[in-house]
Amino acid sequence: MRCPMVAGNWKMQGTRASVAELIEGLRRQELPEAVEVAVFPSMLHLSRVSDALAGTVLRVGAQDCAVQSEQGALTGEVAASQLVDGGCKLVLVGHSERRLILGESDSVVVRKFAAVKSTGMTPVLCVGETREQREAGFTLAVVAAQLAAVTDALGVQSLHNAVVAYEPVWAIGTGLTATPEQAQAVHASIRAQVARLDAEIAEGLRILYGGSVKAANAAELFGMQDIDGGLVGGASLNADEFGAICRAAGM
Ligand code: PEP
Repeated sequence: MRCPMVAGNWKMQGTRASVAELIEGLRRQELPEAVEVAVFPSMLHLSRVSDALAGTVLRVGAQDCAVQSEQGALTGEVAASQLVDGGCKLVLVGHSERRLILGESDSVVVRKFAAVKSTGMTPVLCVGETREQREAGFTLAVVAAQLAAVTDALGVQSLHNAVVAYEPVWAIGTGLTATPEQAQAVHASIRAQVARLDAEIAEGLRILYGGSVKAANAAELFGMQDIDGGLVGGASLNADEFGAICRAAGM
C-alpha cells in the first residue's frame, strides 16, 4: 500500500507577510492522517516555514538544490546538506520550469537527484512532455527518457524512497488538466518502466500528478490506480483549497 502524498510548490511566490498568513491557514486545516503533506517554499522562506511548521504533520521541502551535496564555493547555490540543516525533508528535482526556462539538462538533474539522495532526503523527480511533444505522439518516450536518465546513471535502487511527479508542461499553470485517463496512462507507463528493472521498487514508488490540480478535479485524478497524489502549484497558495486537495487524497 503506497501512502499518498500531496506536495505544494510555492514557486517564486510570497513575502514574509503572505507566507506567515499561508502558514496560519495551513495550521487550521484538518489534514488526513493517511496522507503525507509537504510544502515547498522559496529558499528565502524555507527555514522560517520549517520552524513555523515544526510539531505539525506538514513537512517542508526545497524547490531545487546544488549539484554538489556538500557546502563549498558555489555562489548563489544551496547545498543539499544545508537544506537538511534548514529542516528540509524533500527536494524537487528537474521541475519543467528549471528544465525549460533555465536550461537544466538531464545530466544536471541526475547530479541533483544524487546529491539529494546522498543526504537521506527524498528527491521528487519531475518529468513531463511539452504540448508539441504530446501532439507529435512522443509523450511516453519523453517521460521514459527523463526517468531513464536517472536509472541509467544511478541504478533503479535510487528510486527507493524517491517520488516521481508526472507534470505535463502544457497543464502547468494553464488551467488545463490532463484527464484522469491521460494521466493514468503515463503513470502506468512510468511504473511499468520501473517494474522491468525492479518489481518491488515499482510497486512502492509514489507517482504524483501535477498540472492545474485543484479541489474540484483532485478526487477524480487521485482515484486512478497509479496516481498516488499530487504536486500542486497555484492552488497550494490558498490554504483552504490546498487543504481540500489533501483531503481528496485521503478519500
Ligand atoms: C507545478 O508547477 O508544479 C504545478 C503543478 O503548477 P500548477 O498546479 O499551478 O499547474
